[in-house]
Parts: sequence; C-alpha cells; structure tokens
Amino acid sequence: MDNQNHIQVKYRWLGVAGIEIHDGGQSLLIDPYVTRVPWHHMFFWHVQPDRRLINKMFSRGDYILVTHAHIDHLLDVPTVIEQTGASAYGSQNTCRLLKALGVNESKIHCIESGEHLKVGNFDVSVFNAWHFPVPFFLPGTVPENTKPPRTARQYRMDACFSYLIKADGMRILVDSGKREPRILPAEVLVIHPLYVAAGYRRLIEEVQPKLIIPNHWDNFMPTISKEINKFSNPPDWLSALMRWWFLPLFSKMIKKFNPNVKVLIPQPFHEYDLREIIE
Ligand SMILES: [Zn+2]
Repeated sequence: MDNQNHIQVKYRWLGVAGIEIHDGGQSLLIDPYVTRVPWHHMFFWHVQPDRRLINKMFSRGDYILVTHAHIDHLLDVPTVIEQTGASAYGSQNTCRLLKALGVNESKIHCIESGEHLKVGNFDVSVFNAWHFPVPFFLPGTVPENTKPPRTARQYRMDACFSYLIKADGMRILVDSGKREPRILPAEVLVIHPLYVAAGYRRLIEEVQPKLIIPNHWDNFMPTISKEINKFSNPPDWLSALMRWWFLPLFSKMIKKFNPNVKVLIPQPFHEYDLREIIE
C-alpha cells in the first residue's frame, strides 16, 4: 500500500476490551471501560461508573461500538457519551440498558449481526460472536422499558458481536469470540489471547492478518491508578504476569504459525500508527 496516499490510522488500547481507532478526524471507540468494578462488588453491590476517571481518560469519541452488554463493556458508555457526545451502537439489550440509563434515544443505534453500517468515516460489518458462558452471568433478554440496572448482573448479554472496521481502506477485525462462518480477511486482527492454539492457526489462515493485537487480557477488576502515567504499568500482579510472561508466549505461538505476522502488545492509552507498524 502506498503510504503517501493514505491518512494515518491510529490505534489506542484503553485497558480491558477498550479500543480507539482514530483516522485523524474521527474517533471510533469500542467497549470503553476504565471504572473496573472490584470482584466483591460483582454480585449484590450497586455499581456506578467512576465519572472522575472517565472524564480524565476520555476527551474524544464520535462513535462507540459495544460488543455486548456485560458490565466491563457497557458500564462506562453512558458517561463517555455524556462527556464526548458520541453515538452508540449495540445489541437490543445494550440499547435498552442505555435508554434506561438516561442516554438520549437519538444517540442509540440498535444493530444486528449481518449488518453493514456507515459509521461516520468508518465502514463497519457486524458478525455474531460466541461468548464463553460466565457462571451467574448467563445470557438473557432485558425487557423493554427496563429500570436502570443497579447491579453488575443486570448488565445482561443477549448477542455478542465482532466488528470488521474499514478505516481509510485498512481492515481491522475486532474479534470478540469464536464464529462458525468463514471470516473475511483483514490487515489487523484484534483478539483475546486465551483461546486454544488450533483456533489461532485457523484464524491466521482465514483472516491473513499482517498484525495481531491481543485484547481483553488484563485483570479487569483491580482499581487502576487515577494518574494516567501510572496506568501505563499493569494494574496488579495478575495483569503483570499476563503482560510479561503470557503475552510473549502468545506472540511466540503466532510466529510459529506464520513468522511474517507481527504482534503488538500495546501500552494502555499509547497511540500507535497502524500503517507504520504494518508497512
Ligand atoms: Zn463478557
């Protein structure tokens, strides 16, 4: 690809499953979440987004794609919308919960698997993804006109989506889980690093990525530092173990399947130019 004829496509990892893709003009966020509700609040406690931290961390956002309605993907979205004016896209449950949480209906877009959307400068294709079963957080339908969710378990998942995003011709597949149908090729594959090895072999063959970026690998429950400079370090021992021991092994495995595929282990909130890395 000729670099001179293309704009920069920037990638930022926001911690947990959060991502920003920025094309120099518009910002597309996926699952922004910095509150990190601690594990002992996951059952009966009332959960609240950390507004002060969200205000500090999110200064921009035009569009938000939500992969599914679990708390670590959706809790912060209404506050990010309030802060940035972004519009949100997600499943029926996601839309019903956002409405219950007071988000203006003009900012909520209900989407389904199989749709191809024009989201500002970005083209987005929506695919069904398989989410592993989480005990006590099983899927179900959130009723229409539901009350605002108060506990983590009320952030109930119905569908789970993967997104193929085209930004200035660059294809970025944000894969939230295993899917049966054949996957489209993409230059960048953003993926959970904890599946079985055979799954990655197949993904690499089908997607033919030039770059793989592991996502949603850190422990999403410890409170992070309020200081962004301190946030650049893993927030706890489990995340540190993943960062310094497991992810290099993941990277090695990918190289074994295809030595030409690059693996980026991003620092949170650091901006990477995807074209610069790939070409
Ligand atoms: Zn989930």
